[in-house]
Amino acid sequence: MTKHIFVTGGVVSSLGKGLTCASIGMLLERRGLRVRLQKFDPYINVDPGTMSPYQHGEVYVLDDGSETDLDLGHYERFTNSPLDCHCNYTTGKIYQSVIDKERRGDYRGRTVQVIPHVTDEIKTAIKRLAREDVDVCITEIGGTVGDIEGMPFFEAIRQFALDIGKQHCLYIHLTLVPYLKAAGELKTKPTQHSVQELRKIGIQPDVLICRTERELPKEDQEKIAQFCNVERRAVIEERDKELTVYEVPLSLVNNGLDELIVQKLGLTQAKPLEIGDWKQMLEVIRHPEHEVTIAVVGKYVKHHDAYKSVYESLFHAGISHRAKVNIKRIEAEKIEQDGAEKFLSGVDGLLVPGGFDRRGIGGKIEAIRFVREHKIPFFGICLGLQCATIEFARNVLKLEEANSTEFNPATPHPVVCLLDEQQQITYLGATMRLGSCECKLKTESKAFAAYCQEIVQERHRHRYEFNNQYRAMFEEKGFRITGEHVKKNLVEVIELADHPWFLAVQCHPEFKSKPTASHPLFRAFIGAGLQYRHEKKIEPNSRIRGTFSPALAGS
Ligand code: GLN
Repeated sequence: MTKHIFVTGGVVSSLGKGLTCASIGMLLERRGLRVRLQKFDPYINVDPGTMSPYQHGEVYVLDDGSETDLDLGHYERFTNSPLDCHCNYTTGKIYQSVIDKERRGDYRGRTVQVIPHVTDEIKTAIKRLAREDVDVCITEIGGTVGDIEGMPFFEAIRQFALDIGKQHCLYIHLTLVPYLKAAGELKTKPTQHSVQELRKIGIQPDVLICRTERELPKEDQEKIAQFCNVERRAVIEERDKELTVYEVPLSLVNNGLDELIVQKLGLTQAKPLEIGDWKQMLEVIRHPEHEVTIAVVGKYVKHHDAYKSVYESLFHAGISHRAKVNIKRIEAEKIEQDGAEKFLSGVDGLLVPGGFDRRGIGGKIEAIRFVREHKIPFFGICLGLQCATIEFARNVLKLEEANSTEFNPATPHPVVCLLDEQQQITYLGATMRLGSCECKLKTESKAFAAYCQEIVQERHRHRYEFNNQYRAMFEEKGFRITGEHVKKNLVEVIELADHPWFLAVQCHPEFKSKPTASHPLFRAFIGAGLQYRHEKKIEPNSRIRGTFSPALAGS
């Protein structure tokens, strides 16, 4: 029978519930258990796909095309648990389904109410993951206890234990234990209040995970245990990590969390923990042998989480090369004001990530021109490919007004234009080209050299594409199309013949990178950056290629 872990949060938001869930999932997996992870987001949007990255951070895309919360990115980076559209529900999605049922007459004339109809819908969403082949299902409730919009979710998880038996459920509550400088001590009161709030709605937490800046003294742990009616050994400290979030699972192991869960849920089939490779990876992070600086030029660089998976993937690629990756975040509009040289002259590579809307496009194009001309490695992702196309059209093909119809519908040279299948679409939600698509690579290409595979699957999220009418004109000048969606005749990967490493993709490879298995394209890009840096050092003014091969370190 599948066991359930419910993870809630209190005191403040942004405590890192997603990371904690991902870490718990990873630890259980590495004790030989089969795990599924799921997140409930209490906001009303049906999914985050239509939300601004400023509000919400990155939209994380799954293989099946679901546009989900970025916490699912943590789940995927830490575990091998399969994710699909049943792994992220919002209030909007739950209500949409309840309202559809009501319109179909499924409720047979009854008054439709939050309890039981909405809560039943939530419970069904939990049960959907709890298939026979799953040992533990971890469900994270977004927001904090006490939020009005979160109430139906809390009520549903309360009822869930009554339905299947408390012995099969574990409630883990994550709280903050703040350090007050003026008092010189950690404060447990917010945790006590938060647990009180949870108990008021009928949930007694089994485990408390306390986020702290400093070590949680024994007395404080005892006090929390006593006031919150939780076993002393179930008060777990989770201190801020200086180096990387990938240290979180280890600190939870050191504080006994995996064993506690195994015992409390009676997971007798659990095996001894195996995390040797993870520890090894952390050692590499602690002692890098190389260093490389990558510029990321985007629209939302100020927002910490808007390009979350891109930053993580660069970091993972760094691990593969035993290199520390310094990321220089540059706002595209700044380049429009002050020029590319000021920001890019010292960097070893440029990455232009995905995005929407025309703001900052000029800056991205200028940045790409700079690295193309100076032979600095370039990696474009989705909008990055489209900007590289516009740049090449304007500055190499001399089509000065070339553009994407997204930014100028009346351009005389629409080198990037709307997909045919997108022409009639007016609804914004979940209507892009979404999810995993097949791409065929040319064997004579940097992309193939990176993947070592001719057919690859990557996730997509876009409406516009390279305009095939311009294909011959581009190819003639060394703009190589090295990857294609064969059936639909869509350009997927482009490279420049006359450049050490200039590659852009229409997909989002950043959604398939893990710290223990970096994505091949990111790995190749960081390898090219290290190579560039090495050559710059030995011959600052020449383009002579050295023999340094950091790429081998991680392959
Ligand atoms: N705005 C572009 C499109 O819709 C790029 C999207 C993206 O970068 N994800 O095609």
